[in-house]
Amino acid sequence: MKSAKVNIIKAVSLLICAVFALSLISCGGKESAPVEGETHPTVESLNFTPIDTEKPENETATENTQEQTEEPETEEITEDDTTEQDPPETGGTAPLALMYHLILDEPYSALESLFVRPSELRGHIEALIEKGYTFIFADEYGMYDTKTVIMSFDDGYLDNYTEMFPIIKEYNVKVTVFMITDYINGGEYLSEDMIKEMSSSGLVSFQSHTASHPALTTLSEESLRNEFSTSNSVIEGLTGRPVKAICYPSGQYNDLTLSVASEYYSFGYTTVSTNSTAGYPYLELPRLRVNRGYSKEAFASLIN
Ligand SMILES: [Zn+2]
Repeated sequence: MKSAKVNIIKAVSLLICAVFALSLISCGGKESAPVEGETHPTVESLNFTPIDTEKPENETATENTQEQTEEPETEEITEDDTTEQDPPETGGTAPLALMYHLILDEPYSALESLFVRPSELRGHIEALIEKGYTFIFADEYGMYDTKTVIMSFDDGYLDNYTEMFPIIKEYNVKVTVFMITDYINGGEYLSEDMIKEMSSSGLVSFQSHTASHPALTTLSEESLRNEFSTSNSVIEGLTGRPVKAICYPSGQYNDLTLSVASEYYSFGYTTVSTNSTAGYPYLELPRLRVNRGYSKEAFASLIN
């Protein structure tokens, strides 16, 4: 009897080990190295391995290579996960931050998950309005006591003007575009005139996504300063408004990045995907990644 009990315990232990090993294998299938853009920036060069489309439940930040190596495949990062970080020091509530890229029905690259349909964006905006969110800019973090959302668009693609801009005007909501300033007027990207028109509408804030979208972790301090100061001066020259926020290309940053960035920016946004910025440092704010295929209901289930 006793040995039977021991055998059962052994069998259960083996089963637990097997499940654990399997989970390690599935979590291990992370991102390969980023494919860096060279002379002709494209969607492919800026955004890396495609992630699952049509499956909000598998949401995870795939671009970030620093903080997610052992994390479970879930957007649920709780307070417990961030207890070692300094909480923001404002009196306002911690906003929800969202990460988008392109708004188009027909993807023109293999990275289909980045192409959120215009109808889906409408659904997301409606869900946010119904849940009582106020839309604020990325550089207005922590300024409000109400329930706030920062809807952000990375890179500054052309469709942000042709597809996204009309929709946000219709709903009268504020969004932020993290612009790669070297790519302005570059075909697939926003032009100077578009940026001026969008900014002067009062509904679009342009903030920094650096000048050339490099892997910031590979840069010297001098190169970091060049990236930050160039992008800021280009954007400020076009919009007449100060740049106070940065989104790190591909979510890559290190201690030097943060140190230099702190001299140029009040807020830094990453690709860590979670539905609350509560408890994160100002220069390492996470954003929930929004993919193609998220219906209004699927999106609503991801946010509070
Ligand atoms: Zn980018």
